[in-house]
Amino acid sequence: MSIAVRRVTKRFGDFVALDDVSVAVAGGSLTALLGPSGSGKSTLLRVIAGLEHPDEGDVLILGEKATGLPPQERGVGFVFQHYAAFSHMTVGQNVGFGLKIRKRPKQEIRARVEELLDLVQLHGLADRYPQQLSGGQRQRMALARALAVDPKVLLLDEPFGALDARVRKELRGWLRRLHDDVHVTTVLVTHDQEEAMDVADRIVLMNEGGIEQTGKPRDLYEHPATEFVMSFVGPVNRLDNGFVRPHDLAVQLEPDSAAREATVERIVHLGFEVRVEMALDGTKVSSQVTREEAERLELRPGQQVYVQASNARSFA
Ligand code: ADP
Ligand code: MG
Repeated sequence: MSIAVRRVTKRFGDFVALDDVSVAVAGGSLTALLGPSGSGKSTLLRVIAGLEHPDEGDVLILGEKATGLPPQERGVGFVFQHYAAFSHMTVGQNVGFGLKIRKRPKQEIRARVEELLDLVQLHGLADRYPQQLSGGQRQRMALARALAVDPKVLLLDEPFGALDARVRKELRGWLRRLHDDVHVTTVLVTHDQEEAMDVADRIVLMNEGGIEQTGKPRDLYEHPATEFVMSFVGPVNRLDNGFVRPHDLAVQLEPDSAAREATVERIVHLGFEVRVEMALDGTKVSSQVTREEAERLELRPGQQVYVQASNARSFA
């Protein structure tokens, strides 16, 4: 394991931000720490980085105990949501800063900076100043700076969180490709389940200072361990005592013994798919069907339909 967090508890006064948390991150993986705001993601990342000290437990990096070591001796690269670049330094100087304070030869720094700017697709922008870059370019510069010193692990705390949705999506794909090139063990904090599902090999889903479930994105989606996991990693309907994904709720026009009566309220076209919002016994449910299916059924608001759930799950 590249990173092992063992039974870490972190309190702020009386508040328990991390409650006996253990996590193992495999070498070369891209692991997402996913969870709602306030669930303890940043605190856990900061404990790994050495920016916070746990009250109990240990952190191991590449098998060596890091608890007690200052951040600069842990071999971690860190990128925050709002990365504070040195505004009086050029992009190249920002990226090379870590090498300069390590007193690497000038020529080596120049070559490495060039290589890194290529890697993050900022080729030719070394002499600009950070203020002359777009938000997305600045975050890529931050990544280049974090990679400059060959970190053992790369820790990213909502690195694209401040950018608009389109750029964020672009950078997500870019990060995935970068990781396929560089293979540095990466932990990405995000509250966005779609982002985590899209880029990560593994997801550690956090809730209220604890870990709810760990697994591949698909495992969490298809085999959620708890009600929280099921409702956090995808859309869900609550039906009686069970939970049903919208694509597992079939809509039909004819009644039958297994189907429940519902009234169509709204039809939302999402491109290939159509979301049918309905009222069923006073609750709202939604079904996701293909465009062809919606056309075949000639669905319209006010219509009476019958729905049938498959793969309903209930949690103890
Ligand atoms: P997340 O990154 O998942 O949004 P954080 O790890 O930042 O959550 O915070 C978890 C909880 O710990 C929050 O309730 C937050 O208010 C609290 N917390 C974080 N840092 C501190 C601090 N330095 N002092 C007091 N409380 C803190
Ligand atoms: Mg946070």
